[in-house]
Amino acid sequence: MLSNRLLQIAMMVEKNKVVFDVGSDHALLPCFLVNNGISPKAYAGEIAEGPLNRAVENIEKNNLEGKVIPVFSDGLAKAEDDVDIVIIAGMGYHTIRHILESCDVSRYQYFLIQSNTDVDQIRRYISEHGYTIEDERTVYDGFYYQIIRFSADLHDQYSELEIKYGPINLQRRDEVFIAYLNDYRKRLLEINERASKPEYAQTVSEIETVLGYNIDR
Ligand code: SAM
Repeated sequence: MLSNRLLQIAMMVEKNKVVFDVGSDHALLPCFLVNNGISPKAYAGEIAEGPLNRAVENIEKNNLEGKVIPVFSDGLAKAEDDVDIVIIAGMGYHTIRHILESCDVSRYQYFLIQSNTDVDQIRRYISEHGYTIEDERTVYDGFYYQIIRFSADLHDQYSELEIKYGPINLQRRDEVFIAYLNDYRKRLLEINERASKPEYAQTVSEIETVLGYNIDR
C-alpha cells in the first residue's frame, strides 16, 4: 500500500515511460508503477546496501524480476539510456542537489522532485539553470509535501514569489495548496508570538496577499 505522498507522485508519471526512482527504499514506487500498468519497466536505484536488499526482496515478492530492476548507484551514475522519467523523493535539498549536479539533466524527459527540506531552494536551483517547472502538486500526508515536475526545456528565471511558493501552485491555487498556506501562516503567527522577528511578520503578510479572501481566520 502506497502512502498518499508516493501515490500522488505516481499519478504524475506519464503512461508507458521508463522510470528511474533514485533512493528507492523497498522499490515501492517502481513496483506500483509496473503493477498498475503505468510503466512497462522501472529502475529502483539505491546507494545503500540495506535498502537495496529490501528493494530486491519486494521485487521478488511481486514477481516483477526483469520489469523492476534494482541498481546499486549514487544518483543516476549507473542509469541506462532507456530512462525517460526520474523520481527523486523523500530526501533533503542537499542530497537532491548533489544528484542533479552529478547528471545530465537534459538527457531525461522530466524529473519529479519531492524534497523534505528547502523546497524553495530546489525551485531556485531550477530557476538559476533556466529549466522549466512544468507541474506542481501540494500533498497532505501527515505533513504538507510539494512535488515539482521540471524539465531541461528553457524558461526565464522565476520571480521570488514563484520560487517561494511555486509558479503552478500560485496559478492553480488548488485546495491543498491553500490549506498548506493557511497552516504555514498559523504556524508563523505562533512562532512570532513566542519570538518576534520582522521576517516572520513579513512572510505572514506575503502569505495573506497570496491568499486574498481565502484567509482561514
Ligand atoms: N524515495 C523513497 C521515499 O520517498 O519514500 C525513500 C526515501 S528514503 C528516506 C531515502 C533513500 O535514498 C534511502 O534509502 C537512501 O539510502 C537513498 N539515497 C540517499 N542518497 C542517495 C543517492 N545519492 N543515490 C541513491 N540513493 C540515495
